[in-house]
Amino acid sequence: MENVIIIGSGPSGYTAALYAARANLAPIVLTGRVLGGELSLTSAIENFPGFPGGLGGFELLERMRQQAEHFGAIIKYHEVTNIEFQPGAHRIITDQGEYTTKAVIISTGSSPRLLNIPGEDTFFGRGVSTCATCDGAFYKDRKVVVVGGGDSAVEEGTFLTRFASHVWIVHRRDELRASKIMQDRALNNPKVELIWNSKVQEVLGDGQTGVTGVRVSQIKTNEETILEADGLFIAIGHIPNTQLFEGKIDLDEQGYILTDRRQHTNVAGVFAGGDVQDHVFRQAITASGTGCAAAMEAEKYIAELEG
Ligand code: NAP
Repeated sequence: MENVIIIGSGPSGYTAALYAARANLAPIVLTGRVLGGELSLTSAIENFPGFPGGLGGFELLERMRQQAEHFGAIIKYHEVTNIEFQPGAHRIITDQGEYTTKAVIISTGSSPRLLNIPGEDTFFGRGVSTCATCDGAFYKDRKVVVVGGGDSAVEEGTFLTRFASHVWIVHRRDELRASKIMQDRALNNPKVELIWNSKVQEVLGDGQTGVTGVRVSQIKTNEETILEADGLFIAIGHIPNTQLFEGKIDLDEQGYILTDRRQHTNVAGVFAGGDVQDHVFRQAITASGTGCAAAMEAEKYIAELEG
């Protein structure tokens, strides 16, 4: 019987591991397939306190992992395939064996939402991207399309003007969801052009060049246009990685895990932290904060269970 198993290896998971390790609980971290989660794809993090010069996402996660291991966390590169919540003895099945544990901390994060249109899969990583910070520099003096109307799309569109010669932001409505300050920044940028009330229908390209254009349709008139772009950045929100927990734990209507203010889920001994339970802030620092709180509550829960 383990004390605590942490599912996920992003900032929430590693921070929970650090706290649980320092509480002498010998936590096990099941990293999942995407080691480090989304943060590992971020090239420069300048808003994590304590690093005035900034650092790469992967490097930040490596430091977190080392710190957690230093205090006794056990890192297993396993993927969870099933889970049975039984308070007192939760059962976790992985691709490499099973565990029984008193407490579980879920830090499985979220994944970018995709459009599910022709060409998206074919050109993913060859012109189609979900991360402007990671791939923007490949588009020097080229034209790109960003799809979405939230803070991410507008921020990424503005960021891409550092490299690209022209940025189309395609949005399905006639007003942006993004905050006013971000909107103003984008709308006042001469390289940015908004395409309103429109949908991206298809990514066009060929095997050699990669993406050569994006087919867009006007929602009201059905009129179609080809934007001759070299890249498509998809920024239409995220989907929480909660498929494993459906029907087993309370989720909100968007599929995020419902937690109380102390990171408890509705199941005794099961806690959650990070983006899997937060669609608002989605920052490394807030993920770390909720991971920390989840571990402190798990420690208290185990003490009560034993006492
Ligand atoms: P979001 O706010 O949920 O916005 C998603 C956008 O994508 C919306 O404009 C939505 O259109 C559009 N969309 C959704 N599904 C679509 C589809 N199938 N086809 C076309 N368009 C689709 O997501 P987000 O921009 O990733 O932001 C998430 C959270 O992170 C927000 O709370 C945001 O404030 C925060 N954030 C903050 C910052 C910052 O402060 N620097 C930066 C990035 C994100 P509709 O508007 O029509 O629904």
